Parts: sequence; structure tokens; C-alpha cells
Amino acid sequence: MSYGDPRFDRRYAREYEGQYGSGNQINIGLLVRLIPILFGVCAVGFTMVRGCQQGPFGRVQIVAMKPAQEAKLGMQAFQEVLSEARVIKRGPAVDKVREIAKRLIRATGNESFQKLIGTSMPEFQWELEVVDDRQVNAFCLPGGKIVVYTAILPVAETDAGLATVIGHEIAHALAHHGAERMAQQQMVQIGLTSASFSMGDMDYRKRQQLLQVLNAGAKFGILSYSRKHESEADHMGLLLMAAAGYDPRESIRFWERMSSATGSGSAPPEFMSTHPNHKTRVHDLTRWLPEAEPLYQNSESKSKTQVLPHFR
Ligand SMILES: [Zn+2]
Repeated sequence: MSYGDPRFDRRYAREYEGQYGSGNQINIGLLVRLIPILFGVCAVGFTMVRGCQQGPFGRVQIVAMKPAQEAKLGMQAFQEVLSEARVIKRGPAVDKVREIAKRLIRATGNESFQKLIGTSMPEFQWELEVVDDRQVNAFCLPGGKIVVYTAILPVAETDAGLATVIGHEIAHALAHHGAERMAQQQMVQIGLTSASFSMGDMDYRKRQQLLQVLNAGAKFGILSYSRKHESEADHMGLLLMAAAGYDPRESIRFWERMSSATGSGSAPPEFMSTHPNHKTRVHDLTRWLPEAEPLYQNSESKSKTQVLPHFR
């Protein structure tokens, strides 16, 4: 009997089974684990290929949707927020907020700014509303819908301070951070679901422990990514405010004020909740100042830093 002889195969299979159990069982067991993982890998791969695009500062980003879908969702969220809000239509504070936002929006078309960012700017239908609210917050939804809450005005203190806030928020929207975060969440969800299916035959406690570890890893990954987004929005926002004619050094003063406003033991305002460590932020902004200064010097009209009008 030699290798290749069918009797050899049968005998080999019998001995193999004696030592390791049924070969079929092993293969089926392995398949049960591998198939969900393979499906997961394919689905993540598909998401990556479909959503891959050039992000700011030369990085590659993966987004979950096209700009038109993003803008539609942004519009819906904007209407939802406004339907439950006290929108302030006029007054010196509102005029000032509008003027600052207008300058920043115009600066998104600045060629030197675009060159530094390294991507073309999306076409947005910009809108802005000021909302009377005690939240120290402001945001720019995908598609260019900006909301500024009145409680952030005293903390912003000056027009350059508010340009720091709005510039940072506009940067999140220009960089498609929302669509990128959505793609990450989708991929994490696919990964966790396929991992959970592939552990189908595992004992319940072991499976829960393993899933907890994977979940914690995914959360950590998303958190570190959201810090990356914050830092990128700081960088882009700094360049944008400079191109709009606001002294970029004022951004550091603004963050100092923000940090002392939140350092008194009270919970950080929503605007700060996912934002990076204060020291890192000031260090980074200082590092980026030489890039921002020429934009400020060459901006069409420099705005003299002045205190914002009081809302009340
Ligand atoms: Zn942010």
C-alpha cells in the first residue's frame, strides 16, 4: 500500500480520526467560524472601497455617504433642532455672529487656504441661525447648516474668539467628519456582528468576555479617531480664521478662556466634551501658527479684535 492508493487514504483517514476525531467535524467547525469572518472582511472591504476619498492634509478617508446624502441629513437635523429652539432673528449680537460666519464662509474659497488643506471644498448651501439657549455650544451640520447658541458668546468674548469656534465647526463639515465617523461605526458593527457569529458554538460566558474585549477595543479606536478629527478641525479652523482676517493667535487665548471656564469642577460644556487635552491643543496651535500667519497677513481685510456685543 502506498501513498495515492485509495486504501491508503481510507486507512490514513481512520488513523487520523482516531487521533483527532472526525475530519469533517473539524472542517465544518472551522468553516462555521471562518464564513462569518470572511463575510465581515468582504463587507468591510466593500465599505472601504466604495467610500474611499482624499481627505484633508493628504490623508485618505473612508466615508459612509455621498455629499448629497450628507447634505440631506444635515438639513433634516437642522430643521429638527430649530423646530424646538428659540431662534433669534435680529439684534446686534445676531448681526455680529452672521458677519463672522460670512467672512469665514467666504474664506473657504481662498486659494492659499485650499492649497494648505489639499482638498477641493464641497459646495454647501450655507445657513446660520442663532438660538437662545444656556448650552455653551455651536455646530455646523453637514451641508453647511450652522447653529450658534447664545451661551457661547460670553465665553467666545471677542469676534476672533467666535471665529475660532465657528471656524472649528465649519472645518468638521468641510472635512466630512460626520460621514467618516458613520463609516467607522458601520465597519465596527460589521466586525462585531461577524465575530459574534463566528463564536456561535462557544460557551456563553467565554463569548461574552471576548465580545466585551472587542467592544472596548472598538470604542477605544473610535475615540482616538474622534480626537484626530478634533485636532484636524483645530488645524483647519485656525487656517480658515486667519484667511478670513482674524488674528490666529487669538485662538490660543480663546482656548485658554474655554479651559478656565470649564476647569472649575463643573461638567464640561458639550462643545468641549470630546475635545482634546488643553495642553496638547495649545501646543499644536502654536506649532501651526507659522502656517496661519501668512494667510492672516494676506487676507483681504483684517478684523480688529473686539469684544462681542452683549446678547441681553
Ligand atoms: Zn470639534
